Amino acid sequence: MSFFDKMKSGLHQVKGKAQHTVEITKLYTQIQVKKKELQQHFTKLGETVYESSGIGKQKSVTVDDHQDKMVQLCRDIAKMEEEIDELEQEMHRLKGDKLCVCGTYVAQEALFCSRCGHKFTNTGPQGYQPIVIDPKKDRTNGGGPSST
Ligand SMILES: [Zn+2]
Repeated sequence: MSFFDKMKSGLHQVKGKAQHTVEITKLYTQIQVKKKELQQHFTKLGETVYESSGIGKQKSVTVDDHQDKMVQLCRDIAKMEEEIDELEQEMHRLKGDKLCVCGTYVAQEALFCSRCGHKFTNTGPQGYQPIVIDPKKDRTNGGGPSST
């Protein structure tokens, strides 16, 4: 059972708002730790590239020597990015955030997207569902507050 499967199965047992908040905080912490790890990998990758350049002190090292290491680092980075993505989605789902058409998560109670100004007409509790609003419907709606 993977880490994420465990986490997902754990979510079904979550009851009550306090427990909810604990889970969200946990996820947030995990995300921060992973992001730090990601930064460290980027730093390492940069160092490896520098060493391979032959310009620095370690002139004997060539790109070939470090190629495998670089590929591995890039793979690790890609994996971490995916994990962070999943953790963030779980966090947004727990928080009941809405996914805007522009791909930004906004608070459940938000009426407008903070990024693109999109107006939400559905503020129900099923916030995790991507809300797709027909632009035509928006126009006939007319007199609402301008989002620009
Ligand atoms: Zn938006």
